[in-house]
Amino acid sequence: MAGLLSRALSWAANVPGLSIRGRLARSPDQKPALEVSPNKLVYLDGDQATVGVLNDKRLWGTDFEVIGHFNSPDHFEIDRIHTRSMFVHKDGKRLMITYWCDVCYIRTYTPGTCVCCQKYTDLDLRESDEP
Ligand SMILES: [Zn+2]
Repeated sequence: MAGLLSRALSWAANVPGLSIRGRLARSPDQKPALEVSPNKLVYLDGDQATVGVLNDKRLWGTDFEVIGHFNSPDHFEIDRIHTRSMFVHKDGKRLMITYWCDVCYIRTYTPGTCVCCQKYTDLDLRESDEP
């Protein structure tokens, strides 16, 4: 079983834009990770805005999908934030991860304070990228 899995992952390393899905979690050393099956963690990495989303505690434990490629069998690099490569699956829907300031009506794609009023933005999972 373990041999089969590692063969599948090394094959996947050659495919661009691969999608993997699991439970967003933390590794034992507190790095972003995806639990793709029981006791099998894949470390996640990406650009700064992407890692900001992975570090958002509000998303930990969700049914999470990322698109990118394997750097090694247990390290997955997510495509850059502007390619919209992270999703949460909830109630049978594939939701985009966005952040919303309800004071200024400004939408962003990584957690943090609003560029306008400095309010900490709300997590807003959406079915589409429409405003
Ligand atoms: Zn604001």
